[in-house]
Amino acid sequence: MSALMTEIEQGREADRKTLPGPILLLGAPGVGKGTQAKELVKIWGIPQISTGDLLRANVAQGTPLGLQAKEIINRGELVPDTLVNEMVAARLFEPDTVRGYILDGFPRTLGQACWLDARLAGQAGALPVVAVSIQVNYNQLLRRITGRRICPVCQSIYNIYVNPPKRDGFCDIEGAALIQRDDDTEEVFKERMRAYAALTAPVVEHYRDQGRFAEVDGDRPIAVIAAEIIAAVERLRQ
Ligand code: AMP
Repeated sequence: MSALMTEIEQGREADRKTLPGPILLLGAPGVGKGTQAKELVKIWGIPQISTGDLLRANVAQGTPLGLQAKEIINRGELVPDTLVNEMVAARLFEPDTVRGYILDGFPRTLGQACWLDARLAGQAGALPVVAVSIQVNYNQLLRRITGRRICPVCQSIYNIYVNPPKRDGFCDIEGAALIQRDDDTEEVFKERMRAYAALTAPVVEHYRDQGRFAEVDGDRPIAVIAAEIIAAVERLRQ
């Protein structure tokens, strides 16, 4: 039995040597795109490209893009496509993206999706995207977002309701005081959900129609969801 298991595991490892290519993680705020992206990074060794993280880094550094994006993010609205596309284009020029990459939180509009599709179509030998949509119900998302706390040093993510730190308000690893994102309030969450329904839900349908698409239930343990996403990507890449 264990020899058989080893053989199966070796087979899976061999499969994973195939190019993962571009993977899109789609879903509403709080479904766990970032958490799942980190699981996929461990498997394939390709980078996670989170447009939310890139924008927040620009805000923190006070770049011209960050200055334009800050208020928009804090209102829960979407940053204009041209700015985000330019930022993603610059990131995709980095050499670590040649085997593939995980886009986390991009595309969020049909304009961004069309831009990405055209970019890949114009790139000789580029693999088409595989899109995975993660689903979690509204009340669960509200709890995840308003309960989320982040360590400013190691970026560990806690949730005061379901995954609290050992000492209230402080990171288990760094001991640093945990912070809450400015846009993780109930009021801004509602606006982010409105933006998702109006502008991002059509992106999910766009990729569903293209075929290389999977939908997963995000209300289960992290490892279970990750295993399902990995299996879906491997299947859709064959
Ligand atoms: P996230 O960290 O993915 O929840 O993103 C936080 C915020 O950054 C969003 O609510 C938007 O204001 C902005 N943002 C992130 N990704 C995009 C995108 N692809 N297009 C437009 N705005 C974005």
